[in-house]
Amino acid sequence: MVGYLVKGALDREIPLHTNVNVEELIGDGERVIGVRATRDGETLYIKANRGVVLAVSSYERNASYAKTLGHQLKVESMVMPSINGAHLRLAGPVGGRVARVPDVTLLGFHVPGEEQENGVPLWRGALPFLGLPHTIVVNRAGKRFANEGFYRYIYYATDIIDGNTQTHPNYPCWAILDQQARDKYPFGSLMPGQPMPEALRVSADSLEQLAEKIGVDAAALGGTVERFNGFCETGVDEDFHRGTHPWGALMCGDQSRQPNANLGPLERGPFYAIPLHRLAGGGIAASGLVADQHCQVMGWNDEPIAGLYVAGNSQACLDNGAFMQSGITNARGLTHGYLAGRNAAGKPSDLLQQAIQRLGL
Ligand SMILES: Cc1cc2nc3c(=O)[nH]c(=O)nc-3n(C[C@H](O)[C@H](O)[C@H](O)COP(=O)(O)OP(=O)(O)OC[C@H]3O[C@@H](n4cnc5c(N)ncnc54)[C@H](O)[C@@H]3O)c2cc1C
Repeated sequence: MVGYLVKGALDREIPLHTNVNVEELIGDGERVIGVRATRDGETLYIKANRGVVLAVSSYERNASYAKTLGHQLKVESMVMPSINGAHLRLAGPVGGRVARVPDVTLLGFHVPGEEQENGVPLWRGALPFLGLPHTIVVNRAGKRFANEGFYRYIYYATDIIDGNTQTHPNYPCWAILDQQARDKYPFGSLMPGQPMPEALRVSADSLEQLAEKIGVDAAALGGTVERFNGFCETGVDEDFHRGTHPWGALMCGDQSRQPNANLGPLERGPFYAIPLHRLAGGGIAASGLVADQHCQVMGWNDEPIAGLYVAGNSQACLDNGAFMQSGITNARGLTHGYLAGRNAAGKPSDLLQQAIQRLGL
């Protein structure tokens, strides 16, 4: 997708400048007219004839912003270190308004030795692997707590707070799998049959020993696996309805297993427990700049800031409904860019007006 967009820009002789860090917006008292940036230690001033579009993604690599805006403590991240909240620092001095929207917490793991730029550990989302057959996720009580094959269930359940005990009952949590899963399926970058590094997992020949090693009640874990294995025989997960969402069956199921692509018993040792770590939202941190229907950044006075637009994850996720929607972030980023471009070119989209008239609002 990005390759197609880059080609589209190059075909239209639109110059692309890489390795440029935008440091400040420049205004003339009435509108934003450009930016101050740096490249390889050199300062650049770039004039904007029509407007500046902030599209620097979100803030999840900025621990302080993740804590104060997202209420997320001790989260790791899958995204590159540069996703650190530049849109908030840039738009703040010109009065850009911020909306705080609840963030989604993902689950992930780090394969020892895997790094991204500058030696930053590469964290991987666990989502595609948790709903595979021969795999479950349990909390410290040794119990399953969600449909592991559907992110909108398990991620929500991970964040639940028990008000009585003031704890997260479902975090910490572990992916529990057996040797069949290791023989048949990948886990992150680890291919089927490839040994799992010891630093990633705990393993044991029996479930009892595994439970002991991770500090979970052995009888509870044994009971959980026995019940889950029973569901695998009938093909119906009576507790969490795993395998009933087509998304889960396609994204983290084994189509060769029918009638339920997400079910398969845990019965052949050795057994593995992988501690799952909280990850911020994969670049989809939800708080951000408030925009109007033309993607102009709004000020705190509810007036658009002339010459300043926002697209993609820099824009507050006020359009996502109750929870993150899969695949929506790229779609909304593309739409924002289109709307901002139309407005900056003096041909604002009238799609919203059309919809209002059509619906009689
Ligand atoms: C593993 C993974 C899988 C995903 N899968 C999907 C999917 O299937 N479908 C989907 O829709 N979305 C998916 N997403 C999310 C999607 O990739 C992001 O939401 C999307 O790329 C965000 O686009 P963006 O333009 O807002 O920001 P980005 O694509 O992150 O681009 C922001 C850019 O701004 C740069 N930048 C930051 N600060 C500055 C500054 N001060 N000056 C200049 N540049 C700066 C950054 O370096 C970065 O290059 C996935 C994300 C991850 C991590």
